[in-house]
Amino acid sequence: MLCAICVNFDVRKLLLTAAAQPPKGFNDPTAPDTLECLRPAVPRFFEHHPNLLSLRSAADKCDLCASIWQAYASNTHPWELVQEELLKGISTKQIFVGTTAWDATLSGMPHISVIQEGEKGAIRTLALFEVCAQRCHEPADNSDLLARSIYSNSGSKGCLQLAAELLGNCINKHKSCSRQYPASSKLPTRIIDVEGTNPKLVDGGGKHETFAALSYCWGGDSEFILTGASEQLFRQGRPLSNFPATIRDAISITKAPGIRYIWIDALCIIQDSREDWAQEASRMRDVYRGAVVTIAAACAAKTTEGIFRERAVSTHPECWLNWKNGDSNPPKVFLRLGSELWDERMHQSVLNTRGWVLQETLLAPRTLWFGQQQICLECPKGSVDETGRTIRIVEIYRSKEFIQLVRREIIPGWRRQLIDLLREMHIPLAMKIPSLSLPTIIHARDLETIRHRAISWKPFTLQGYFKPPANIFGFSHFDFWLKIIENYSSRQLSQATDVLTALSGLAREFHQATGDMYVAGLWKRDIIQGLTWSRFPVRKKLPDGRVDNEPTLSNQYLAPSWSWASILGKKVLFMAETQFDHVKQFAEVLDIDIQTATHDPFGAVKGGSLTLRAPFLELDSKDLFIPPDSSSRYPKLSQFIFDVLKSGGGSEYGQKHRGYAEQKFAILKLVYWRRTLSSTERACFLILESVQDSNDWRRIESLNLTSKETVLWDSKEVLEKLAILDEIKHALKRHVVRII
Ligand SMILES: [Zn+2]
Ligand SMILES: [Zn+2]
Repeated sequence: MLCAICVNFDVRKLLLTAAAQPPKGFNDPTAPDTLECLRPAVPRFFEHHPNLLSLRSAADKCDLCASIWQAYASNTHPWELVQEELLKGISTKQIFVGTTAWDATLSGMPHISVIQEGEKGAIRTLALFEVCAQRCHEPADNSDLLARSIYSNSGSKGCLQLAAELLGNCINKHKSCSRQYPASSKLPTRIIDVEGTNPKLVDGGGKHETFAALSYCWGGDSEFILTGASEQLFRQGRPLSNFPATIRDAISITKAPGIRYIWIDALCIIQDSREDWAQEASRMRDVYRGAVVTIAAACAAKTTEGIFRERAVSTHPECWLNWKNGDSNPPKVFLRLGSELWDERMHQSVLNTRGWVLQETLLAPRTLWFGQQQICLECPKGSVDETGRTIRIVEIYRSKEFIQLVRREIIPGWRRQLIDLLREMHIPLAMKIPSLSLPTIIHARDLETIRHRAISWKPFTLQGYFKPPANIFGFSHFDFWLKIIENYSSRQLSQATDVLTALSGLAREFHQATGDMYVAGLWKRDIIQGLTWSRFPVRKKLPDGRVDNEPTLSNQYLAPSWSWASILGKKVLFMAETQFDHVKQFAEVLDIDIQTATHDPFGAVKGGSLTLRAPFLELDSKDLFIPPDSSSRYPKLSQFIFDVLKSGGGSEYGQKHRGYAEQKFAILKLVYWRRTLSSTERACFLILESVQDSNDWRRIESLNLTSKETVLWDSKEVLEKLAILDEIKHALKRHVVRII
């Protein structure tokens, strides 16, 4: 039922008007040959009720008014909904129905917006809707402007067919995807053949075939795994009903598009063989890269939970509208709240809390996500969900588009030299240098010219600008690596010693692109910035609610103390070089040595050292552990270190400190940054402790001193830190230091 106003609303005409808007094209930097299409909003297409009160009274007898009112009311504080509030301000203004701006590039669809305009152009959105067609009952005309209904169960035949169709679209219709990632590639060492009723383990044997891979939560909760003892059973084939639910469901998904093989780590790696595990872990990049699709069991926390889900029924009123295409019996479409199906659980899902999954997702050319409310196919061109909508990942480094760029940008030798040259001059790669074209730099090869131009650089007044070849959106590979580490380190690993192994596939990928040397989770060329990390401690909650102050320690060696991988903790944070326009690197790398734990140069490590020449200041016991008003030579610094030492509680120091009599402490100056525009300055130091019976040092904290800008609002602490800087300014002396 519709009210006298809504009955005149023509949703078809609105969507056609939105689609007819001249697009504002812009070049997508990732694919310069394609023009993105952003179609502008049509906000005031239809004059709806004159005010909120009128809308509310119509809601009793009109489905559209009821949908709008409910959408508004469910997002509004109850006191704003009382009669007298509805008689004030923006609530008394005319209501309009129109569309928002939308991205029409992949399979974007216009969203319906219901707005009110207040004083001085203020706009309030009452509701946002998607216009949907019931599957199999789509109107014959312009149905590409409509979303689709979702399936009641993600394991239904229709939903699996849709999954196969989305995959087929990428393989057959996305030229750039199929060119780079052909459907078949070399099979992994072992693979599950799902043909027939008893899936069985077979050897890949170097054959080229189409296969899928599974990305899922497996914390060792299943007994159904490949071991030396069970191998024969798996090779004979086991009835599908014996498989745990998640794996069983994955096999159904594999079969839907007619794929014969699937790779599942628990069944394709011999779980009780350390050698096999190490060997296969180092091949993970090829497995996930080679699989035509990776099935992501997004909401299954255990192997026994299964992938498929019943879908929740909408709690909002249904609003059906006529698709006025001139038929005497017009087709019906319905409105769904724009936010209703947005499956946040997909990217915040239990699967995405797992450390291993980051590389499984990034390395895979295509991932088929099975969430609670949606399925979604993600490929380098973007993601399309079950309703037909395009989803774009905001953070580019988390997308497949990004890894494709990394793959494409394998840097030839001369470009690498150029990057090294810029690094040597401490020019961040993210910088844009005006009036300096790439050929000029290459031909000049004249440090002085470049330096002179770089100094006269002014941000935001670019004429022609130089973008170093390793850059993606103006960022270097290394900037992206740091982003990846930040994301990765906030995930969980059931085995702390997997910290470098579960990242080895991505490290291999970056190495292919840059040719740089991988050193325990960091890169040699950018090691100084890589050392600026800090990591939040994990603090366990005790049963009585207090926080455990005892450090959570790993009882096994993880990495050298200068690597972020050396301690347990939460998110790793690095000092971002890209925010600054002036960089001065104080530490100079003399040597890096890494001993890997297996044959895999990107996997676990068993030792490593880093030798730096840098401004250095040693503090002996006289300077420390004494109240600050004592005879300490550097009372402010000593007090600061003393406070760090006291804090413990899972902090870096708490996890690493190995004390002994006559132990020494020291600080080492790494790097200094300045941002001219905001006059922010920042210096990063390492705090070191001596290692018993050797001349080596161990990193126990990093110390970041920020100045100027921050002083305004964070004065006390910052001023104290600045005082430290003053205190030690002339005491630092260049020194060669080996950190292990
Ligand atoms: Zn109405
Ligand atoms: Zn694609």
